[in-house]
Amino acid sequence: MAPQIPKTQKAAVVQKTGGKVQIKDDIPVKQPEDLAPGECLLKMHCTGVCHTDLHAALGDWPIPPQVPLIGGHEGVGEVVAIGKDTVHSPVKIGDRVGVKWIAYSCLNCEQCRKGFEQNCYNVKLSGYTVDGTFSQYLVSYVNCVTPIPDGIPSEDAASILCAGLTVYRALKYSETVPYDWIVLPGAGGGLGHLAVQYAKYMGRRVIAIDGGEEKRKLCESLGADAWIDYTTCKDIVAEVKRITEGKGAHAAVVTTASSSGYTQAVDYLRDGGKLMAVGLPAKATLDASIFFTVFKSIKIIGSYVGNREDANEAIKIAAAGKVKVFYKCDKLSALESVYDLLGQGKIAGRIVLQME
Ligand SMILES: [Zn+2]
Ligand SMILES: [Zn+2]
Repeated sequence: MAPQIPKTQKAAVVQKTGGKVQIKDDIPVKQPEDLAPGECLLKMHCTGVCHTDLHAALGDWPIPPQVPLIGGHEGVGEVVAIGKDTVHSPVKIGDRVGVKWIAYSCLNCEQCRKGFEQNCYNVKLSGYTVDGTFSQYLVSYVNCVTPIPDGIPSEDAASILCAGLTVYRALKYSETVPYDWIVLPGAGGGLGHLAVQYAKYMGRRVIAIDGGEEKRKLCESLGADAWIDYTTCKDIVAEVKRITEGKGAHAAVVTTASSSGYTQAVDYLRDGGKLMAVGLPAKATLDASIFFTVFKSIKIIGSYVGNREDANEAIKIAAAGKVKVFYKCDKLSALESVYDLLGQGKIAGRIVLQME
């Protein structure tokens, strides 16, 4: 029997950017008969909270989000309906699937055909240009959701869909090989702690940079080969060079929001090093030495989330138990207080909200 779909649902809504998050329980649910071909309706289990959601709520990015806004883009739910006349659906009713930042890509434009679905000319962004995962029900797209393998709890999978995917792709495209040194500034944060694990799974050596005892313990427990505390280290560049026997690191995956994290990387990378830029600070600019970027043959590469196959790879590695999200659970109604803590940089790992 088809599950009962309610007419209204609970969701976290931002009426205008910069305003408060309100929990509302009268948000309409798109009914199965109203779904367009290719659309599916998901009953959400849980959703992670990402720094991007805070940027969306504040409206401080160069591209404005839609308002009113239902944020969220790393959610896991169950397919409860599929639009009539959908052909070749890779998912069926009852499947557990994930929703990513890239809610929809057309799979037909030049960028999509080249595998850069995240740069699709017809892209829809979850919790930014279309409603996101901070709701009990969500309309998504059968060709774009990520199937979640059995054996990984929904809460464990949620943050793989954004944070995990993002760092996995950056590492995958860093042109490094096993035993190469990778520097991870912000290694104890939401993206960073996953980057440490994916890097170790891929056989790289990790230099973790972050601040404080809690983050040091987290990074070391995840297998980081070296630790630098930026709050006490006087010269990070010199320290990276010391650890790498004077040569510098092969790559850096920079997830931090500060521009100094990027500038330093050019200095501590060895010749031919790759600077994978992953963080999305609202205003910071990249102030790197052109002389040394050229002289050292440094590659600076912007790496923006990932395509559907990157997501499948990232989630399979996590489902195999090789990468674990360090998270705490809370309820959807706690979103406002989670944003406060996120804004103050006080969250080690990730927060996953369960639907009520
Ligand atoms: Zn995100
Ligand atoms: Zn496209």
